Amino acid sequence: MNTTKKTISIVIPVYNEAQLIQTSIPSIIHAVEQGLGTQRADLYHLEIVAVNDGSSDQTAQVLAHMQQQEPRIRAISFTRNFGKEAAILAGLQHAQGDAVVVIDADLQHPPALIAPMIKLWENGLLVVHAVKAQRARESWLQRHLAKAFYAVFQSMSGLDLRGHSDFKLLDKQVVQMLLALPERQRFFRGLISWANFPSGQLPFEVADRPDGTESKWNRLKLLRYAVNNITSFSSLPLKLVTYLGVATLLFGLIIGGNSLLQKIEGKAIDGFTTVNLLIIIIGGAILLSLGVIGHYLARLYDEMKGRPAYLVRTDAIDSKDKEAS
Ligand code: UDP
Ligand code: MG
Repeated sequence: MNTTKKTISIVIPVYNEAQLIQTSIPSIIHAVEQGLGTQRADLYHLEIVAVNDGSSDQTAQVLAHMQQQEPRIRAISFTRNFGKEAAILAGLQHAQGDAVVVIDADLQHPPALIAPMIKLWENGLLVVHAVKAQRARESWLQRHLAKAFYAVFQSMSGLDLRGHSDFKLLDKQVVQMLLALPERQRFFRGLISWANFPSGQLPFEVADRPDGTESKWNRLKLLRYAVNNITSFSSLPLKLVTYLGVATLLFGLIIGGNSLLQKIEGKAIDGFTTVNLLIIIIGGAILLSLGVIGHYLARLYDEMKGRPAYLVRTDAIDSKDKEAS
């Protein structure tokens, strides 16, 4: 037995894709084997981790059947739909590979790219991002909403995720780092960029779904995803309330001063000034106090997330140790 064989795990989140996976999973396997060529394919053991994210169609049965035909397929099934992020996390937890590739089940991510990704990983990169050279055919609104999301996300977190997808290769070390994070609500793409391991990029063109169906993400799901991802990487929205409070209070003081002046000059209607002052100043004070609470909440929230203050690359320590000795 060859013990030096490395394992490559392919993690595939699957939600209601009973029809598609019957062809897409075999073609992913085929593409990897072909891409590596017979000689190099022998160096690796391939493992497919299909995570059935609570599909309501025949996905579970289809996967069970495929597992019997192809022992390299392992299937995990959720009790209900927990979302793609959770499916990716479960896949990473169950993958045993020295390198793990995350890829969609619908062939929108070209599997022919996996072999070149493995090549880059062999050359020492710990993360290989497949980056969209061009977005899939989508509506004007969708494209602009996505653009706005990436712009807001970048301005708040400092991470540029434009063109990024979940189609990535990760070294085992990176997978372990991700799994060690205590966060429950995750943004896979964001966390990988945040960790900043040595990485490379390969461009790809997003294919249409072979069965011509629409994305599983509706507008509401995407909006919730966007808000969750921004708030998971920045507490700025919470702090903005303070700035709003300061602005309101300043504005209130100006208007209030003006009302007072009018009162002194005898131009104001009786009682108007008092009401004006009360509303404006108290409103500003309330917003400001809310903002202060927001700041503490933000601190608490950052601590609660429990992200480590820094991450250490184990291989970097090893090589330094070697230099030192
Ligand atoms: N998916 C999932 N859970 C969900 C929605 C989608 O596991 O709740 C999977 C889906 O089966 C596919 C991948 O995530 O493999 C991407 O989904 P989809 O193709 O619908 O989205 P898009 O291509 O628009 O990103
Ligand atoms: Mg898709």
